[in-house]
Formats: sequence, C-alpha cells, structure tokens
Amino acid sequence: MNDRALLRYSRQIMLEAIDIEGQERLLAGHALVVGAGGLGSPVALYLAAAGVGRLTLADADAVELSNLQRQIAHGEADLGRNKAASARESALGLNPECRIEAVETHLAGEALAAAVAAADVVLDCTDRFSSRYAINAACRAAGVPLVSGAAIRFSGQLAVFDPRDPEGPCYACLYPPDDSGDEALSCAESGVVAPLVGLVGSFQALEAIKLLSGAGTPHRGLSTFDGLTGQWRHFRVPRDPACPVCGG
Ligand SMILES: [Zn+2]
Repeated sequence: MNDRALLRYSRQIMLEAIDIEGQERLLAGHALVVGAGGLGSPVALYLAAAGVGRLTLADADAVELSNLQRQIAHGEADLGRNKAASARESALGLNPECRIEAVETHLAGEALAAAVAAADVVLDCTDRFSSRYAINAACRAAGVPLVSGAAIRFSGQLAVFDPRDPEGPCYACLYPPDDSGDEALSCAESGVVAPLVGLVGSFQALEAIKLLSGAGTPHRGLSTFDGLTGQWRHFRVPRDPACPVCGG
C-alpha cells in the first residue's frame, strides 16, 4: 500500500480486527455482486469505498424512475442505462482504485458458475427466488461463501451461507424449493420503504468485508428486521440432511 492508500483506508487499518493485513486481504479480494438494485447499490458503494480490490457487478435491467426512490447507486441521469454499468460508474466515483467489471446480462448457467468460481465472496442482491436458488447452488458447487439479503415492505433479512463450514446450512436448507414462484419477493408488486434496502445492503457489505479481511466471525443463522417496530430477531438455521442442494 502506498501513502495515499494508507490514508484512504486509515480508519479501517486502525481497527485491531482489520489492521494492515486485513486491509491487504480486502485489496486482494474479489466480490461478485448479483443485482445492482436496492441491495446491490449500497453493497457496491460500500465495498468499493472500503477497498475491496475487485468487484463484479451483474444486472441485466435498466434504471427506471420508480427505482430511484431506493437504488442510490443510480441517479436521474442514469434513467434507461444498464444498472450494472451505472452502479460501476458510481462506485468508481467513490474509489477509482477499485477494479470493477459490469456484467450487463442475466447471469445464469455456465456464466454464473464461472463468475461465482472466480470470486472470493458472492452477494445475492436479487429479488427472484429462481435467481436465489441458482446462485446458492453455484456457490455450493464452487465452495464460495454467499451473503444473502432480502428486503420487502418494512421487512429485511440477512443470512451468510459458507460451504466451507461442514455444519453450515445453505439457502435451500432455509427455504426448501417449491413451486411458489417469484411473486412473493418482488418490490414492484409489494413495495418497499427506501432505507430498508440500505440497512440490509450495508449489513451484507459488512459481512463480506469480514469474510474477505478475516475480521470477527461470520454471521450465523438468520437475522430478520421489522422496520415497523424496529426489532431485530435471530434464528438458528440447521443444515437440512434432506436438502436437494447440500444434503446427502
Ligand atoms: Zn442445503
């Protein structure tokens, strides 16, 4: 690290749990952020600002006016632009030292598997169950930790699934796949209060920074937040021996 980097990251380096070594690990780290919307915005901005060396931002959608209420990586001038490209530009504005690749397509199949395998941590910032299951399966197959966040109406949740932990569950242990479809997760249909995505996305970024730098211990179980009462709850999530993704 040069003097400028030492100054830029000084408030993290002075933390005992991170220190120079942890900051060096962040700078050498590569995070894949799937979804550059409400959750992906704070995730991309905080990871870039904090000095994660390499980010891959994936989103196939274009910025719409109804996104601007909460998707803070995008502005009025980005309407109609691809979200991954727009978020890349915002994150580079905070930290031009960060290497950022925008994937402007829906990551699926082999492309998803390759992107996950190339990353040190994956952040699921999508709002579709089908994407969530695909990302979970790819993380499990590649042995890459997954930081999962969700926010809808006034409710948020976070969980970290680390395939390197032999006792650890996966997303499909928590939510066994069925045919309920994608409807339940969509902010377009259910609405969402603006700062909730900031809260959950910031929590995801924090967990990714811990995983990459080695600070603290990764979050375990499921944390849920009810914005209407301001209450957090925490649940244990056991591994399901019959899980179709990680069981057997
Ligand atoms: Zn599982």
